[in-house]
Amino acid sequence: TYDFLVVGGGPAGAAAAIYAARKGINTGLVADRFGGQVSDTMAIENFISVKATQGPKLVASLEEHVREYDVDIMNSNKASKVKRNEATGLVEVSLENGAVLKSKSVVLATGARWREMNVPGENQYRGKGVAYCPHCDGPLFKGKPVAVIGGGNSGIEAAIDLAGIVEHVTVLEFADTLRADDILVRKANSLTNVTIITNAQTTEVHGDGTRVTSLSYTDRGTGEHHSLALAGIFVQIGLMPNTEFLQGEIELTNRGEIIAGSRGETSITGVFAAGDVTNNPYKQIIIAMGSGANAALGAFDYLIRQDV
Ligand code: FAD
Repeated sequence: TYDFLVVGGGPAGAAAAIYAARKGINTGLVADRFGGQVSDTMAIENFISVKATQGPKLVASLEEHVREYDVDIMNSNKASKVKRNEATGLVEVSLENGAVLKSKSVVLATGARWREMNVPGENQYRGKGVAYCPHCDGPLFKGKPVAVIGGGNSGIEAAIDLAGIVEHVTVLEFADTLRADDILVRKANSLTNVTIITNAQTTEVHGDGTRVTSLSYTDRGTGEHHSLALAGIFVQIGLMPNTEFLQGEIELTNRGEIIAGSRGETSITGVFAAGDVTNNPYKQIIIAMGSGANAALGAFDYLIRQDV
């Protein structure tokens, strides 16, 4: 039995494990893939105090730091269910391999994933012009033309944000109207370097082998094919929290994010949550790490108040 078990090995989970282990409590970490989204990231320039690094390098440092402590790391293991056993007061985390881990407290830090366009060229040019995070990669496209795919709130927010950095932003929305709030649409329409195209189905990302050069789309009204010359494509069609295995067990928002309080507490006693999987609005490495530390301290506060 653990005192503290983290589910997830991204920046949130790693921070939670280190904070817990430093309290001298029996700590475990189970992760499908240690490193999480950071493993898929090329350049990171907004991890404060580190001017520039690469995802795999940061993941190696994360792992090295966690291994500095007595943390039982179970990598390549996926959780399939989380439930509190009212009789024992322990939280039970079932794994896909059939094992059941028991812990007095649990931090869920299973992160999220960006919804992809699923068009040819997207994977080939990921990190080479195809981007998902304007806060992260916007400055890489300074003075260049880019597209934003998706006209919901995140797409229009991205377009407004990018318009201050890049040469020109073209927003492509699949539906015939934008789903973003009016105030955002008005703001985007007021900007001279933002063009919004509705009824546009992106069909392919093109490049020169090393970088994105253009994008093709079909006008769903007329059926005409078009091409846009671009340096970057920001895909903003949804961020999906990894909570499928928690459905019905824990309180989630309508977008599937775990509802976490100011100490990371969730609707299950003894279960805390941190990072991109929660309803915290901003999804960044530094925020996920702070959130992991916060949830670990919340869990520790909970543990010291339990009857012995
Ligand atoms: P994640 O990193 O998503 O980690 C989740 C962890 O949970 C993983 O270990 C995963 O394997 C595990 N997991 C999931 N489901 C289960 C399960 N059922 N059982 C067990 N384990 C499970 N942020 C920045 O600040 N700067 C950047 O430059 C930047 N660039 C980015 C570029 C890309 C391409 C992407 C995708 C994201 C980028 N981000 C960036 C965002 C940043 O990576 C995330 O905000 C951060 O990784 C969130 O950390 P997390 O620990 O909450 O979740």
